[in-house]
Amino acid sequence: MLPKPKKVQEVYLDHAATTYVSLEVFKVMKPYFTEHYGNPSSLYRLGRQANQTLLESRKIIAGLIHAQPGNIIFTGGGTESDNLAIYGIARAHEQKGKHIISIGIEHHAVLHPLEDLKKAGLPAGRQGFEITYIKVDKNGLVNPAEVAKAIRPDTVLITIMYANNEIGVVEPIAEIGREILKYRKIHNTTYPYFHTDACQAAGYLDLDVEKLHVDLMTVNGSKIYGPKGVGFLYLRNGVKIKPIILGGGQERNLRSGTENVAGIVGLAKAFELAQKNRVKESDRVQKLAQYLWQQIEAKIPKIKLNGPEIGEGRLPNNLNVTFMDVEGEALLLYLDEYGIMCSTGSACTSESLEPSHVLRALGLPYEYAHGSLRFSLGKVNTKADLDYLMKYLPEIIKVLREMSPVNLGTKKHAQYK
Ligand SMILES: *Cc1c(COP(=O)(O)O)cnc(C)c1O
Repeated sequence: MLPKPKKVQEVYLDHAATTYVSLEVFKVMKPYFTEHYGNPSSLYRLGRQANQTLLESRKIIAGLIHAQPGNIIFTGGGTESDNLAIYGIARAHEQKGKHIISIGIEHHAVLHPLEDLKKAGLPAGRQGFEITYIKVDKNGLVNPAEVAKAIRPDTVLITIMYANNEIGVVEPIAEIGREILKYRKIHNTTYPYFHTDACQAAGYLDLDVEKLHVDLMTVNGSKIYGPKGVGFLYLRNGVKIKPIILGGGQERNLRSGTENVAGIVGLAKAFELAQKNRVKESDRVQKLAQYLWQQIEAKIPKIKLNGPEIGEGRLPNNLNVTFMDVEGEALLLYLDEYGIMCSTGSACTSESLEPSHVLRALGLPYEYAHGSLRFSLGKVNTKADLDYLMKYLPEIIKVLREMSPVNLGTKKHAQYK
């Protein structure tokens, strides 16, 4: 039987899913709910003040990514920014061409719009887009030369994430950006445009758009100790996009709807703090991730680290581990009994136990892609949290393995559907 803890601790190891709102961020947001509630479009003082606040938030964010305030479009989060970037470019430039390049390990907020663009739409008979997914290597890394090779005269957009949410791989965005610049120069064109989803990167990496050579960049608040449901899209000067939400014409007509002033103030503050502390915090959480991995390696047999080795090529707070012959979901639920929160790298939906599209794209055999867990560390985590986890994890896995139909000899390893 499994040992029961005398006292269940709460250990949150799922910061890649979302973070709490830091007190510092919450404090600056609070007055905007009850006191400074004006509509930024209103002409009287309360409205003008709200508009001024928006401008200041824009300035803070722009300053941190080497842009101008006018390049920042506030949105309702990472999903919306990704959608605006992809549909926005596709719809504004479909006369030029209908080809987009991406990779298969993107977040669904990128993949689903891309798949949607493949379908023929209205007016009747209109051709759908063609999407080229560049193969990533066994660690999830894309080769910039292969991206460059895939560019065609009708390629209007390349969208590649900065850092992956499941396996933490950091993609070579600056190098890809340089390849795209080279292509444009040789062919004397402004195409293709380059978008990166930087939601997972914002807390740990440099987001200077000039160094990265990106034309569009997605960031949200909910992964950086800011509020959920708010984000921004960076849009380089001179790059035209079409809006996906129509209405009152806010955000230079690119994102209608009364601005989420409190959320935007919180996003700016959270982003400022994240970027200010990122080097120190990266170092701290990476040491913890290293420690956890060493403990897992020492105490649990038949495991595999998914994604790149711990180091520069991996988000410092991410650890994704396969435990062979264990159901990720079962493991997750057992850990929950002990107050430990993390996520599975396998199924996203309860009805399917298929491994995630990310692990599958790495080409892992089914049994390796199946029972995986993602631990994502954050500001509150200490070594004591990891020791608490390691007090129970080896035993839970041992028990689950003993119950596994594969080990009871009643079932062979499943295959991909
Ligand atoms: C969380 C996340 C998103 C979605 O952001 P929301 O703010 O939840 O809409 C998109 N891309 C990546 C890489 C993410 O981690």
